[in-house]
Amino acid sequence: MRWFYRCPGCGAEYAMEPDRYLCDPCAARQRADRPLEGVLECAWDGKFDGGPDDVPLPVAREFLPPLPVGNTPLWEPNRLREETGFPRLFFKDDTCEPTGSFKDRASYLVAGFAKERGITEIALASTGNAASSMSGIGAAAGLKITVFLPKKAPVAKRVQVLQYGAELREVDGTYDVAFDQSLAYSKATGVLSRNTAYNPLTIEGKKTVSFEMVRDLAHAREHEAKRSGHLAELPKKDYVSPDHVFVPVGDGVIIAGVYKGFEDLVKLGRIQKVPTIWCCQAEGSSAIARAMAEGGFGKPVASDTIADSISVDVPRNGAHALSKLTKYKGKAVVVTDAEILAAQKELAAKSGLFSEPSSCASWAGFQKVKNSLRPDETIVVMLTGSGLKDIAGALKGLGL
Ligand SMILES: *Cc1c(COP(=O)(O)O)cnc(C)c1O
Repeated sequence: MRWFYRCPGCGAEYAMEPDRYLCDPCAARQRADRPLEGVLECAWDGKFDGGPDDVPLPVAREFLPPLPVGNTPLWEPNRLREETGFPRLFFKDDTCEPTGSFKDRASYLVAGFAKERGITEIALASTGNAASSMSGIGAAAGLKITVFLPKKAPVAKRVQVLQYGAELREVDGTYDVAFDQSLAYSKATGVLSRNTAYNPLTIEGKKTVSFEMVRDLAHAREHEAKRSGHLAELPKKDYVSPDHVFVPVGDGVIIAGVYKGFEDLVKLGRIQKVPTIWCCQAEGSSAIARAMAEGGFGKPVASDTIADSISVDVPRNGAHALSKLTKYKGKAVVVTDAEILAAQKELAAKSGLFSEPSSCASWAGFQKVKNSLRPDETIVVMLTGSGLKDIAGALKGLGL
């Protein structure tokens, strides 16, 4: 098996080297205030000789940090299944990752890559969760982490960064400003950048969620048949694809990772086709949904939403995510802050899963479009960050 970077735009291939981030000719088309051009994907050819549930990854296992990332639970929320009329509704719960967010999947692979290549420092910009994630994973791996974080990031995320012992550089401005400062730092010092989308491993690390979904949905199908006494008639399946996956979207890296996972699963012959992916965005930060409707990205609109982790002016992976959504006929749903806060409360009170506002954009999105779905379809709603990460946001939802 051979790993390399490939530009999904022009097809150019590059060796997987630490100082390689973008496709040069495509990146030359970059315009100010637009999503990144020339984002690269990790690609592989040859035979994958892993086990039936293994995930092909571009870093050797022994270099991955010693903490339990991924393999998060798939919930069967019975009360909400009954109430919504969707008996095959599932939650993929990444609130219980080591640092409390989905970002750990990306940080884990980037840290492993650094260890494999003898790199000792990683820098990044973040709205909060990527910073706390890279700091925690870096602590386990013994890496120096430098984060560029807007001053107004929720306090829990800042505290995590400091507790994990990372170097915190507070930025007087938005995430977009932090992104540029962090890139300038990496360019000046040669430190490995974990900036989301810019480093192709951030997308690749996030694909693991799709592999877990098809494995765990197969187990759930077997349990369901056992309960109803139909196990004997059920043909054995090792993998079951969801029909719909709801993803909260800011920069568009999680959703691209979800697509990459399903693409790999099709390539490996584990599933037949890529499911319908729903891009769930906050009304006050909905650049990708707008680009889907308008056929491309226009001038940035200043973001304004309580959902801080999906609040971006320019979605860094917007162009790449848009091309995937177009190719696989993905859909968009936009929800208001009021809908997000109501979704957060409903989820907590009726399933026991307490998740931060950004994360709940997916549940709010499902609630908004569920009448257009068939009740017998298999639905996975992805929950990406712990409710404890943004107490101020949760208080607002309670009217306190
Ligand atoms: C980062 C983040 C997202 C959005 O991921 P993108 O890759 O920026 O689209 C969603 N939910 C949570 C909790 C996050 O931290």
